[in-house]
Amino acid sequence: MSDSRISTDIDYDRDGKQVGYLNVPNSTNESGWGTLLMPIAVVKNGRGPTILFTGGNHGDEYEGPIALMKLLRALEPAEVKGRVVIVPGLNMPALMAGQRLSPIDGMNMNRAFPGARRGTITAMIAHYVQTQLLPLADFVCDIHSGGRSMSFLPSAVVHRLDDADRMRKTLDAARAFGAPVGLVLKELDSEGMLDTAAEDMGRIFVSTEIGGAGVVSPATIKVAEIGARNLLVHFGICQGNLVTREAQGLAPTRLMAVPDGDCYTAATENGVYEPLVDIGETVTVGQLLGQVHDIERPGEPPAEKRAKRDGLLVCRLGPGRVRRGDTIAVIAVDL
Ligand code: CA
Repeated sequence: MSDSRISTDIDYDRDGKQVGYLNVPNSTNESGWGTLLMPIAVVKNGRGPTILFTGGNHGDEYEGPIALMKLLRALEPAEVKGRVVIVPGLNMPALMAGQRLSPIDGMNMNRAFPGARRGTITAMIAHYVQTQLLPLADFVCDIHSGGRSMSFLPSAVVHRLDDADRMRKTLDAARAFGAPVGLVLKELDSEGMLDTAAEDMGRIFVSTEIGGAGVVSPATIKVAEIGARNLLVHFGICQGNLVTREAQGLAPTRLMAVPDGDCYTAATENGVYEPLVDIGETVTVGQLLGQVHDIERPGEPPAEKRAKRDGLLVCRLGPGRVRRGDTIAVIAVDL
């Protein structure tokens, strides 16, 4: 455990419940020998698998931190067979600032893997996860939301894997999570992600996109809370029954994919975005998804944004302000 510059009083091998900190060296003008105290909890009871939960990978996504703080307060060792490791604020400085990227080094935690022992603070945290936490874990769940810039139909998100057995186990976990959608994503840019690091290590990995636009709602928090609990049951770490969607009177998780670039629509203009279709609505190719109004040329017609394929709108731009290159819409198709 000496490989990282981050230290902790947590003993990952000890039975019981520990709530403590990762001590991340953070020398600043205000605090020369300062330390960033990053909360972490471990609930362990005897032999069994380990799950690692992370939230706040992006600092403007709040369902994960809320659901995981509630889980770590409620979870008792007697309920657990194995080990649950919870990091509610993975990019702690970003979370404290309410922004996606770290205000200290400007880095995106989910592009910082495998990190670096002597890197900037984000790289150091990623390196700790890579070298100290991922090796402990059999299962990893990283709870994301859409962040300030996007709004998502609540989804458990997984990636297409070459290994058929791992793909099946991953899809089973995505279904067990119990979100409206189980999304098989082709990432536009997967290098440096926690997802990729966990998958490369052979871990069963589930991520999520739950809500977004920089806000939280009772409904989206409920999806995250039930999902985290369901994974504990599904992986055999906690006893009990899954809180199924059927038991809640809801349609079963719809397994969908985002197979190619035609699923994504990006803005090519600056302006104000008027969505004409909301998340969860079915769209057909050529349908008007929304339009960008140029505030500086109000007499000009708006730029029309049309669906490039049939499917379900699972994500749209979060704020009204739009800039060239922003993702405006993501369409998913049934698997
Ligand atoms: Ca995110």
